[in-house]
Amino acid sequence: MALGAASTSILVAACGGDAPKTETTTAPVETPEEVPAETAPAATADCNDLSGLTEAEIKQREAVAYVTVSTDAEKNCGNCRFMQEGTQANGCNGCQLFKGPVVPEGNCKSWFKKDA
Ligand code: SF4
Repeated sequence: MALGAASTSILVAACGGDAPKTETTTAPVETPEEVPAETAPAATADCNDLSGLTEAEIKQREAVAYVTVSTDAEKNCGNCRFMQEGTQANGCNGCQLFKGPVVPEGNCKSWFKKDA
């Protein structure tokens, strides 16, 4: 059985053959602007960077067993009388006992309670 022209049109229409094609577009994905390093806030400063210290200065830190995270919640640089707030590069804290930065969460065996 041969199909006539009308039958062919019905079959094509039924499968969507005559339907206009719609283009799907995707919105461009916006990427956040990057903050140039020179304008980044000081909070991102690495206060564990010892690259400016001599080997002898690093040994002084090791001699008092300075660590960047205290194992005693009651004793840390933040409540030690020897911590010097913001005296180092990039606003990092220092310690009266040795050169270089310390962080408030740090500790060493010379910790001494800060006066209230
Ligand atoms: S003496 Fe030790 S605990 Fe105190 S600020 Fe210096 S490194 Fe931190």
